[in-house]
Amino acid sequence: MSEADTALPALHDASLLRTEALLGGEWVSGPSRFAVCNPATGEHLAGVSCGDAEQARLMVEAAERALPSWRGRSARERGLLLSRWAQLLRQNADDLAQLMTAEQGKPLAEARGEVSYAASFLEWYAEEGKRVYGETIPSSDSNKRQWVWRQPVGVCAAITPWNFPLAMITRKVAPALAAGCTVMVKPAEQTPLTALACAELALRAGLPAGVLGVLPASADGSITVGQVWCAHPSVRHLSFTGSTEVGRILMAQCAPTLKRLSMELGGQAPFIVFDDADLDSAVEGAVQAKYRNSGQTCISANRLLVQAGIHDAFVERLAERVAGLHVGPGTQAGVQVGPLIDAAALAKVKAHVDDALALGATARVGGQVRGDLGPTFFDPTLLVGVTPKMRCAVEETFGPVAPVLKFDTEAQALALANASEYGLAAYFYSRDIGRVIRLAEALEYGMVGVNTGLISSAELPFGGVKQSGFGREGGHHGLEEYLDTKLVCVGDVNA
Ligand code: ADP
Repeated sequence: MSEADTALPALHDASLLRTEALLGGEWVSGPSRFAVCNPATGEHLAGVSCGDAEQARLMVEAAERALPSWRGRSARERGLLLSRWAQLLRQNADDLAQLMTAEQGKPLAEARGEVSYAASFLEWYAEEGKRVYGETIPSSDSNKRQWVWRQPVGVCAAITPWNFPLAMITRKVAPALAAGCTVMVKPAEQTPLTALACAELALRAGLPAGVLGVLPASADGSITVGQVWCAHPSVRHLSFTGSTEVGRILMAQCAPTLKRLSMELGGQAPFIVFDDADLDSAVEGAVQAKYRNSGQTCISANRLLVQAGIHDAFVERLAERVAGLHVGPGTQAGVQVGPLIDAAALAKVKAHVDDALALGATARVGGQVRGDLGPTFFDPTLLVGVTPKMRCAVEETFGPVAPVLKFDTEAQALALANASEYGLAAYFYSRDIGRVIRLAEALEYGMVGVNTGLISSAELPFGGVKQSGFGREGGHHGLEEYLDTKLVCVGDVNA
């Protein structure tokens, strides 16, 4: 380790710090390195090996070699390895959380929560892999018998984002491995250290060489790795979580080889509060759905639509809660809102707030860049008097800014909510059973939270519609993504 690496957190187990690619079961250096920095301080954390086209190709070949024996194991054997890996994640939760907070910025308590969430996917799919059942279909010909089998798709690639550096990996890798696929991961350039520590634990759990590969790369290197994996005919499936813009590029790159795709893209979640909502519960839900991870999740409440009758009381109560949120470095005790991931993210959040203020909105709480705390901090912010023309009501803000829009009728709320090119998550609060069912049916979103701001867990299908993508992660639906359907039709059985 170089002297420049001193900003790294002290780990109980220093060997969890890995800075090379996991390729064919070995740690391998690429031709160059790229810098990973702490967003809270701007300090250099580590130089990480940057994957190139050659490594990307070698990783596909390693995954191909590993496939027959991995696919040939029983689901129970594969499940035992996934369970062991989950156990190791939990046992090393403190170190993983330290690494995650150092490179991603989220408060340590949230980082620990993410380790547990990440382990839950391994645990859930360790069991669900045992339930890949087929079908027997009665034939219209008495001389035939016919079955439907489910088989692993083969070598899979995963490209993951920085906002959940660990859980977005296990949410893809666990169902792929449980199904009998081998899988390669390219983590986000901002957060490779968490991914590599996770890979180190996979090795310790006993995952055979080539079954899992992890290829870190810089922003430019990521484009190269993406091109190689998308073009490679042996890669049968690509799972991507990230921006809609990059999702479209990857989809186009995968078209010539007709890969199966899972695309978990951007969101612009509406959070609707009706007059008949439970006020305390709605305020609490809004805080959870908005400020967790500094608003940097694709299901963060991006706009709060509040009915006129409850508007003032809701804003009053929410303003108190937001003003009380403790912003600062994720390593500091009691901090609830950490930094944004980088300068570009900060600039976008500031631009959204400035645009709203210029067009007549008011910052009821916050509204300022917090240069006193570090390079990328922004105040937890509550904007009132927001209109549908403002950028924060249309684009994904990805920051700790809650814009409040007032509405009068249910029909208005529904029209506002659906007036988005995105369709990932929507939330609403109401105690009226008819409205609950009516609205849940009418919202053009892949996920609807009713009277709750928290909607994701390992057993549930996570994913969107419209420009938020397609495919589902989590639950038995998440396993389907990694299985092909084979028809076996046997004739002449009475001969
Ligand atoms: P965000 O805007 O949230 O950073 P991106 O969609 O840019 O999201 O990035 C998500 C993931 O996609 C990261 O791992 C990033 O390195 C990767 N990525 C970005 N552009 C490309 C590309 N052209 N080809 C392959 N991977 C890419």
